[in-house]
Amino acid sequence: MPTPEKQRHYLEDELYTLMRQDDRIFRFLEISSLDGIWYSDLINEGHEWMSDRYKQLLGYGDEDIEYSSDWWMARIHPDDLILSRENLRRHIEDPNHPYDQVVRYFHKNGSTVWVRCRGIVIRDDAGRPTRLLGAHVDVTDLRRAEELSDVNADLKNKNEALRSFASIVAHDLQTPMRHVGIYAGLLREVLGDGIDDTAKEYVEVIERGAIQMRRMVQSLLDFSRFAYTNVKAGPVELDSIVDEVRDLLRFQIEEAQGEITTDGLPEIYAERALIVRLMQNLLSNALKYRGDKPARVYITSKEVNQQCAIVVSDNGIGIPTDYKEAIFEIFRRLHRDEKTYEGLGVGLAICRQIVESHGGRIWLEDDQPEEGASFAFTLPRNEVEFVRMRQ
Ligand code: ADP
Repeated sequence: MPTPEKQRHYLEDELYTLMRQDDRIFRFLEISSLDGIWYSDLINEGHEWMSDRYKQLLGYGDEDIEYSSDWWMARIHPDDLILSRENLRRHIEDPNHPYDQVVRYFHKNGSTVWVRCRGIVIRDDAGRPTRLLGAHVDVTDLRRAEELSDVNADLKNKNEALRSFASIVAHDLQTPMRHVGIYAGLLREVLGDGIDDTAKEYVEVIERGAIQMRRMVQSLLDFSRFAYTNVKAGPVELDSIVDEVRDLLRFQIEEAQGEITTDGLPEIYAERALIVRLMQNLLSNALKYRGDKPARVYITSKEVNQQCAIVVSDNGIGIPTDYKEAIFEIFRRLHRDEKTYEGLGVGLAICRQIVESHGGRIWLEDDQPEEGASFAFTLPRNEVEFVRMRQ
């Protein structure tokens, strides 16, 4: 049974009539729903008309375009030219084979523009292909989002693998290390009062070493949690972060007779818990490495290469600028005097991981204050910067 012909809606009829009568209707559809139209001559090969939007999408105006097929062929990715030619050949042979492909064009500024390019062949009364009408749709943003999500998925898998590796290593190391500590204690008991000073000293060194190793493994585990994190960002008031960290460090502040002052801190776009940890590490260092004066810490912001930088300065013992890279490495410490400045050298390495996972950078300022140290780091201020800085 033949399928009944679909009845055309009266508005559809009206629109088609209007399009034939008034050029502006077609122009409106062209501009608002497409990113370019082209129409090429298959008899006089090489002649081709391209719409204004087509040229604009690739960064060109009327003055720098020739209406020829050679012009676009020089701007399409060579692999995609082969693909589109093959599709055209098949579409001309069989109209049911769609002329439809996503291709890469080179923008005038050198970037890549991803275009979904569709076309239809037009034939004369004898069935000879005479023209090809085509339409472009810009799919660059879509493509970038897909690429980004592929990269994120890949990163997520690698991060998970690394994280589980770190936690397995840490747990596996913890047991033998506990044994070293326990057996050193047992050895001391077995030897009892008969233990001489040298043996006693050796046992103590073993015990201290075991404790230190356990702390280091714990820190490594802590570090790996920050190193391979997938940031979940949102708007965050930096002032409120500083308030929270002041509360977390209240005993250390009291002990250092410390004062933490802020000036004009902006709102940033970041994962709150990570920024709390970042500020906690920097501020607790500022309080710890204070020397013998009451600690004074000053947090402010400035613009660096059109990005927002936060600066944390203190009045403590300072850092020679020769060590400005080394201090961010894991387990690197400048002050080996354990009793005065306790620590393992993981704090700044974690700070760097946190800042870099937001697309930012952290550094020791080149012009250090007369006394004390001054650190700076960049962070995104909004979602657009967050995406851009992490690319
Ligand atoms: P930790 O404090 O546990 O040693 P960090 O990674 O936080 O580890 O810091 C690395 C080293 O950088 C410290 O050992 C110290 O020598 C130096 N440092 C960090 N912050 C300061 C500071 N505000 N003033 C002086 N030295 C600092």
